Amino acid sequence: TMAHSKTLLVLENFIGGKFVPCSSYIDSYNPSTGDIYCRVPDSGKEEVEAAVKAAKDVFPIWSSKSPLERSQILNKLADLIEHDLEAFAQAESKDQGKTITFARTVDIPRAVYNFRFFASSILHHTTECTEMATMGCVHYTSRTPVGVAGLISPWNLPLYLLTWKIAPAIACGNTVVAKPSEMTSVTAWMMCKLLEKAGVPHGVVNVVFGTGAKAGEALVCHPDVPLISFTGSTLTAQRITEKSAPHCKRLSLELGGKNPAIIFDDADLTQCIPMTLRSSFANQGEICLCTSRIFVQRGIYSEFVKRFVAEAKKWKVGNPSDPTVDVGALISKEHLEKVRSYVKKAQAEGARVLCGEGVDSLALPAGNQKGYFMLPTVITEVKDESCCMQEEIFGPVTCVVAFDTEEEVIARANSVKYGLAATVWSSNVGRVHRVAQRLQSGLVWTNCWLVRDLNLPFGGMKASGIGREGAKDSYEFFTEVKTITIKH
Ligand code: NAD
Repeated sequence: TMAHSKTLLVLENFIGGKFVPCSSYIDSYNPSTGDIYCRVPDSGKEEVEAAVKAAKDVFPIWSSKSPLERSQILNKLADLIEHDLEAFAQAESKDQGKTITFARTVDIPRAVYNFRFFASSILHHTTECTEMATMGCVHYTSRTPVGVAGLISPWNLPLYLLTWKIAPAIACGNTVVAKPSEMTSVTAWMMCKLLEKAGVPHGVVNVVFGTGAKAGEALVCHPDVPLISFTGSTLTAQRITEKSAPHCKRLSLELGGKNPAIIFDDADLTQCIPMTLRSSFANQGEICLCTSRIFVQRGIYSEFVKRFVAEAKKWKVGNPSDPTVDVGALISKEHLEKVRSYVKKAQAEGARVLCGEGVDSLALPAGNQKGYFMLPTVITEVKDESCCMQEEIFGPVTCVVAFDTEEEVIARANSVKYGLAATVWSSNVGRVHRVAQRLQSGLVWTNCWLVRDLNLPFGGMKASGIGREGAKDSYEFFTEVKTITIKH
């Protein structure tokens, strides 16, 4: 009814610089209350077609601007988002269930930084040149934007991950059609409201909202979109690879993980324990880089488990807008059920749940009784072959197991299909290097976690992805290279 729809936030697609209503909509939930609070366009082929056309039409203009002109526009957009940081953080927390603290300190500052970073890095690339004196030739490479980029992002770090794609794509001179997750579309829509003021020409950034099966696939299958940058699950990446194969598209795939923490008996536990709690439970464990297999050397195993569990129990679960809360709501009812089912499966296999789900009671504020909450959960006495040690759970669940030798732990850490991120904790520099070298993982953090230099490659090995993104890597992905030979 009209009265009902008035109370809801209704999003519109952003195509060719204009907000356009859609003929049908999807309900979007507030994960911390379980209420429907927003309607997201349920776009399909028609909307994607219009967005691709708008992007294609403006490509000649945008791609011929100088890097400096584009850089200035990206910086302006960064300033505008930063100016509204609090509003963006509130929206992200409400839409995703993450704590307001996390949105304020991680998601939105990083979205701002993504634009500043690529605004700067685009000014500093050089291409290659070689001389072939005996032939009277010089060869040089030239890089040009690819065209219309299709950008598809997940629900866990909504604006953070979407801008990690939009910023390098447009900095390089491409135009884009972006499709955020249907579960977390609000901040992308808010960003669209700032594009004109930042000086982004109409059609350079188009955002089409909707499901993966409809809007996402229409984008992946569109013949005029030669490049797809995707972040999401490995299963969806397989589908995207199949669907795009007839067009031989250029793909960047940032996928799931089953990330190990390897803790040697000479680790500094006063640093390792709080950081491993963060790497396990930050953002409700809904970060692709989260730790979910903790290998602890036998000599310190009991002490580690005791201290780790005692600290995990202190993490406060509750209303995400309460700044003292550490763990917010999971993204959806279905996802919460899925995460819980892993804990049940582990118990059925004989594992022990040391704290959290099914062991401790969760007291929620009155307004959050129907939200999708779960306590940080620590599982032990679990076999390496168990689904909890093999599959990505993507929630506040972590497994702790003991190991004896360096050789053994490397083999066990590598014994999953994924290869995204690992942490290694030891005060022995030689060991840290040796182990880092042998881990099958796109990122290895030793004695720290989540410290990123955006200049360097980010991405996964094995089922965790194909391709890397970062200053140079994104530049290479979002441009075509040509080798030109000049004979005099
Ligand atoms: P998902 O694969 O279900 O969805 C990701 C995006 O793809 C969404 O926008 C979705 O609508 C779209 N999509 C779904 N099916 C599609 C199809 N057939 N064609 C085109 N698009 C389609 O993933 P999710 O559940 O939103 O996100 C969680 C996953 O993302 C986890 O596996 C996590 O590890 C991964 N992730 C990886 C990284 C990384 O950088 N490696 C970062 C964050 C999240």
